[in-house]
Amino acid sequence: MYDHRKLGRELGLFDTDPLIGAGLPYWLPDGAVIRHTLEEYIRDVERRAGYRHVYSPVLGKRELYEISGHWSHYADDMYPPMDLGGEQMVLRPSLCPHHALIYRSRARSYRELPLRVAELGGMFRSELSGVLGGLTRVRAIQLNDAHIFCSLEQVADEARSALELIARAYRDLGIHAARYRLSLPDEGGKYVADPAMWRRASALLTEVLDASGVRYEAVRGEAAFYGPKIDVQIADGAGREATLSTVQVDLHQPARFDLRYVGADGGRHRPVMVHRSVIGSVERAVAHLVEVYGGAFPGWLAPVQLVALPVSEAEVPRARALVERCVQRGLRAELVGPEDGSLGARVRAARLVPYQAVIGAREAAGDEVALRLRDGRRLPALPAGRAVDRIAELVAARGTELWPD
Ligand SMILES: [Zn+2]
Repeated sequence: MYDHRKLGRELGLFDTDPLIGAGLPYWLPDGAVIRHTLEEYIRDVERRAGYRHVYSPVLGKRELYEISGHWSHYADDMYPPMDLGGEQMVLRPSLCPHHALIYRSRARSYRELPLRVAELGGMFRSELSGVLGGLTRVRAIQLNDAHIFCSLEQVADEARSALELIARAYRDLGIHAARYRLSLPDEGGKYVADPAMWRRASALLTEVLDASGVRYEAVRGEAAFYGPKIDVQIADGAGREATLSTVQVDLHQPARFDLRYVGADGGRHRPVMVHRSVIGSVERAVAHLVEVYGGAFPGWLAPVQLVALPVSEAEVPRARALVERCVQRGLRAELVGPEDGSLGARVRAARLVPYQAVIGAREAAGDEVALRLRDGRRLPALPAGRAVDRIAELVAARGTELWPD
């Protein structure tokens, strides 16, 4: 595996500046393309799985986090509050409280449950020594988050579906889970005290994991302060583990925010909150993908998907037309002309680009392209339109194969 910090800089994906601060990377255009594509992917699979997307502000009143319990259990990871016209505002350490308020904003019926509220939203963690130059320990985080408000009877199904969504995303993205962990509390003081709640929530997650057939380890001391969780761990090249995805059962915040729904019996009931993240933070997910692929991303994620290489100046207009055709089909394509060196040098420079379209005199005359694939395969000349159509189809299908037979 590769080091995403080194590669990220070499490939021009992201960078940092001491004047912005440690742990606060910015995304360069090629990195932004990968991030955007990943975000679109996640929104798409969530939409199909019945999630509704919202946006909520990245800060809120201190009181909001006092109610949620973050203020008393999680303050070490939060930024200090800002005074604003007599009120204290804090950068949010998580999205849950905002989503709880969205749930509470109107009367809810059992018919609306499970209500799956999703957001790719910003949150903040006051890492004292954010590592300069990396995406894995950052102080401003873009989280792929969702909260499912459901009845107690629906929790197991929702947690199971969330695990399936995680497994599916890992297949699509080429991510391997190093290990599944059932994270439970220990005796420390950072957890809310409610033994019955912990037992119930832990039993639910244990049941889901046992039924799913995945191997897991139960680990004490890694739970969220409000409930136990299933963590999906990934490993970097040095074998260091980090949590990417998570499914959590929370009986605490619904009580703190006094969330209710009207049941089939006409009575008022308390929903459960299932917190889940499929790819975790966008920063960590991209860092991992950079390390997994070493910059040779699958076609649909690649910053540049096709490079048009005219052999000589005479074929430049055809190459330009090919690029335009690609762009009109929604592909990311670039022209690299003879002024950038010999054909061999340009092919080498484009070695991470999935599709390299060479256009010589013969191809230009017949409106064809000779495709070279990143894996070294050379395809017989194809009509340009057909080549572009096929690549567009492969990209739309988000496959990992460059050119299936
Ligand atoms: Zn949450």
